Amino acid sequence: RVKGEGRGAVRFFEPAMDAQLQARRQMEHELGLAIERDELRLFYQPVVHGDTGEIEAFEALIRWQHPDRGLVPPAEFIPLAEQTGLIDRIGAWVIDAACAAAASWGRPWPVSVNVSPSQFQHTDVPVMVASALTRHGLDPARLIVEITESVFIQDADAAVAVLTRLRALGVRLALDDFGTGYSSLSYLQRFQFDTIKIDRSFVGRLAQHADTLTIVRAIVNLGHNLGLRVVVEGVETAEQLGILRGLGCDRMQGYLFGRPAPVLAVSDLERARTRALFADNLRRATA
Ligand code: C2E
Ligand code: MG
Ligand code: MG
Ligand code: MG
Repeated sequence: RVKGEGRGAVRFFEPAMDAQLQARRQMEHELGLAIERDELRLFYQPVVHGDTGEIEAFEALIRWQHPDRGLVPPAEFIPLAEQTGLIDRIGAWVIDAACAAAASWGRPWPVSVNVSPSQFQHTDVPVMVASALTRHGLDPARLIVEITESVFIQDADAAVAVLTRLRALGVRLALDDFGTGYSSLSYLQRFQFDTIKIDRSFVGRLAQHADTLTIVRAIVNLGHNLGLRVVVEGVETAEQLGILRGLGCDRMQGYLFGRPAPVLAVSDLERARTRALFADNLRRATA
């Protein structure tokens, strides 16, 4: 329709809006069935030690193996899951599947899982975690629960209570996407995490912006002075690796060391490959 046709012009948008809403409803419906249809997958990405390239842990990252759409990344369905409450069931599946996987690995690598604020509010995460650990016989010290600062927005006291119960189980806690939220420092002071993960948006700007370098250095020093592990996410280039090593960064995660991969790739072979790759990249970075 042509602009200026008055109220009629509104109709132009209706079918499109309808289609969008329809698609959303369809996706919500399908996502609701994804667990029983066995379409959810966990991929695992290594976190490596900054000096040796040795694997420290794996982060479990969800994907949806959709019959028509193929492998759907979390950015395309986790927000919908969070808006609709489906995340509570999906999140429970993630905890269980990650514990099962880690228990099956030939080595005692820890596994990290991402937990949404909604799960903290609507489900009993510590009970879920405890039963998954028992069910799969996984040492609690091998599970790392990753949360973001947004978990404190709704009800900080309730969130701290949940974190305290998780710690009492012996699981480790990581503060994810550090530096992108707000009041990060007060949360660090109020509640001792084991690990902070510096958001990858910082790493992307490292080489270009002196200010970014200063910020990352400050975060790394702060973390280390508080006795925390500091993981930098999104390390893609040898140049970044070199800079980060210069800052005293000792834990890293990124495509340079390994992309998220299905469980079959998590093997001693993978470990050897990561180490070799690391040595190679390091040689180039410092050449
Ligand atoms: P996150 O927890 O910060 O996970 C790190 C993300 O950075 C992953 O994206 C990973 O693939 C990506 N990444 C790692 N290294 C690099 C790199 O060198 N370059 C680039 N460009 N990206 C890198 P992914 O797997 O797409 O996950 C995105 C986000 O979705 C996660 O961010 C997390 O917030 C959320 N998510 C993933 N799995 C789950 C889950 O099981 N439950 C919940 N609630 N959220 C999840
Ligand atoms: Mg994470
Ligand atoms: Mg995240
Ligand atoms: Mg992150």
